[in-house]
Amino acid sequence: MSVQLTHSIDLVRVYGRSQCRRAFEIRDFLSRSVVHYSWTAVDTDLACTDLFGLPLAQADLPIVDLPDGTRLYSPSVAEIARRLGWVNAPKLAEYDLTIYGAGPAGLSAAVYAASEGLSVAVLEREAVGGQAGYSSLIENYLGFPGGISGGELAERARQQAVTFGAELLQMRDGLQARFIDGRVHTTLSDGTTIVSCATVCATGVEWRRLGLEYEDTYIGRGLFYGAGTSEAPTCDELDVYVVGGGNSAGQAAMNLSAYARRVTMLVRGTSLASTLSTYLAERVVEQPNIAIRTNTRVVGLDGDNGLAAIHLEDTRTGEKETATTERLFVCIGGDPATEWAEGTKTVRDSHGFLVTGPDLDTTSPSTPWPLQRDPFYLETSIPGSFAAGDVRRNSVKRVASAVGEGAMAVTFVHRYLATT
Ligand SMILES: Cc1cc2nc3c(=O)[nH]c(=O)nc-3n(C[C@H](O)[C@H](O)[C@H](O)COP(=O)(O)OP(=O)(O)OC[C@H]3O[C@@H](n4cnc5c(N)ncnc54)[C@H](O)[C@@H]3O)c2cc1C
Repeated sequence: MSVQLTHSIDLVRVYGRSQCRRAFEIRDFLSRSVVHYSWTAVDTDLACTDLFGLPLAQADLPIVDLPDGTRLYSPSVAEIARRLGWVNAPKLAEYDLTIYGAGPAGLSAAVYAASEGLSVAVLEREAVGGQAGYSSLIENYLGFPGGISGGELAERARQQAVTFGAELLQMRDGLQARFIDGRVHTTLSDGTTIVSCATVCATGVEWRRLGLEYEDTYIGRGLFYGAGTSEAPTCDELDVYVVGGGNSAGQAAMNLSAYARRVTMLVRGTSLASTLSTYLAERVVEQPNIAIRTNTRVVGLDGDNGLAAIHLEDTRTGEKETATTERLFVCIGGDPATEWAEGTKTVRDSHGFLVTGPDLDTTSPSTPWPLQRDPFYLETSIPGSFAAGDVRRNSVKRVASAVGEGAMAVTFVHRYLATT
């Protein structure tokens, strides 16, 4: 069977100012959703009048033209998803399983659960694919010797899950879960409630920020979190910087080096060797337009109309310098977004990761485990609530392990359902 690796949507056209956060969010969403789109930067009154008959101040950019001829003015990502037909109401009143998050772990759980006859709803608050969607080329996932882009891998998994009958409810945050009479009632950000017998939390991690003053004002206006897959083509002939020394930073640097004049990796530690996989480290070192600066951290951001410069500090000497650049990509890992667990009986570790299975000390008064049996391997401190992938304490932060845990969680869901 041949697999179509993009959504079956013709070209979407996006127009906007180069340093516009909303335009970036749209490009990022379309790119991670594997939708073919074109991007036209509109930065002068002349260009804007030529295209839309109005000067910049009146044109209500960004403008998005959809394949059906609809023109959207300054739309949110949610509005675009809705217009593309991706936002649907739940079909059932109750599901066997609700999965939070459609990254590799959530998609894998969806494929196995749906293929094994469970009714499944997958809640995803933005693009399908999670962190994997930011990866330009995953080279260490089994079965793809030439590598595969994270977006394509996720799109294959999405198609597989939907083919087996999983229901994907996109642009929905699972905000709050309540346990009533052996059922989980999940309230979504749009006010809908979903009822299910069991849940798998596969919400991964969120980008860690630099923690700098004015950081928020530069997001999407020169400052990007993640590998910048959608932004790489806009870096033509620029000097760009990547913060981080892990695999995601290495991948970002390699991808950006195909477009940018020069890519500088800023690493806080003394070398790349301890943080980067060998295959990637070798490539990064060999790439002529990638420079690696160790013992360096970013301490400030500057620019009136988007990012124009970054301030750097030598971590050994404290010496400061300023580098001129319009693009900074931050790949310094992530933290789990599990604030929802506050005030519930779900046990987390000190970093917010969900504690599961044998890591739960059921003899401790702080672990409110109510049953005679021990928790199943991926079960949280709430019976019937499982965790898989990066959100789980002590998980291996890899696509393969997230996929493995998603599949494994479903086995335990079956065992749990058999006991209720
Ligand atoms: C740039 C980059 C490159 C990488 N390259 C590789 C690689 O080459 N090889 C490799 O093995 N690993 C790689 N990784 C790591 C790998 O992508 C992750 O380990 C993997 O994606 C984890 O999967 P997950 O499903 O647990 O979580 P995630 O991928 O983080 O997915 C979680 C999903 O949950 C959604 N979500 C969060 N909260 C909610 C909520 N409340 N309601 C609904 N949805 C929610 C998020 O939007 C997201 O889609 C890379 C990571 C990055 C960032």
